[in-house]
Amino acid sequence: MSPTPTPTPTPTPTNAPPHVYSSIGYDRAAEKRDDAAFQEASLRDPETRFLVLHGLKPLFTEDEAGPRPLFVAAEALAGHRPEAPFFLGRYQGRAVFAVDLEGEALEGGTYLELRAVGPGLARGEAGLLAFARALAHWRLRHRYCGACGGPMVTLLAGHCRRCEACGFDTFPRTDPAVICLVTSGEHCLLGRSRHFPDGMYSTLAGFVEPGESLEQTVFREIKEEVGIEVADVRYRSSQPWPFPQSLMLGFRCTAPFVEPVIDPTEIEAARWLHKSELLDPERRPVRLPNPDSIARFLIEDWLYSS
Ligand SMILES: [Zn+2]
Repeated sequence: MSPTPTPTPTPTPTNAPPHVYSSIGYDRAAEKRDDAAFQEASLRDPETRFLVLHGLKPLFTEDEAGPRPLFVAAEALAGHRPEAPFFLGRYQGRAVFAVDLEGEALEGGTYLELRAVGPGLARGEAGLLAFARALAHWRLRHRYCGACGGPMVTLLAGHCRRCEACGFDTFPRTDPAVICLVTSGEHCLLGRSRHFPDGMYSTLAGFVEPGESLEQTVFREIKEEVGIEVADVRYRSSQPWPFPQSLMLGFRCTAPFVEPVIDPTEIEAARWLHKSELLDPERRPVRLPNPDSIARFLIEDWLYSS
């Protein structure tokens, strides 16, 4: 985005590590979503910028520093007939919207999977793109009313879908999932899913079921995956994971140092690793999860601070 950026102050909650894809570095300005005059003026304002998605992939420009999201003005979208834009908030003093183009893509850059480039982006930009992707995915999956099958219209600057036939409203969905580092003294337990890259092991995770507390989900998932009963479940931090619509709730817990008995329908391997094996990248017998993930944070948080 070019000249005269005015940094937008962002409240930073204490004890919240700035995980990639979080709402950091921009102002969501949620109070403006139902302000029709503001929305109309912003969509006409030549200073307003749009993030462009096509098939849920954001549009990037690339230079020697790597990919950067392309922020375009409204005139660049002329002729592309985007669906109602999503209002994302304010970034560097300007209103920012996202559009998910159907049909012909806008030229002028490269469409890339957000997950492939997220760790290298500025936090504010990664967060805006994560927000945009989540909203676009939600709208794509809510074309028709879940109650009566009627057509839906978009309200609240892209943040609500209403059924024209029965009036049912639906809002962007977020699925809570727990992710937990199991520790036993100087060891931690990591598991391997069959779709992981070669050699990668990570923390155990699973979706929260209706009627469960987060702590109960942690206990159930770990018992199911490795047959171990855990204790002392402590919350650490969370990360939005819009692939497509999860919120990862990160925990640490303790367990007896016993051999894991895996459920092969859930994971293909699990092993205890000593701190000394993980602290030295040269000696590490496994590949750790990517640095943009809360899984990596949970492992390093334990390795370096306790
Ligand atoms: Zn309906």
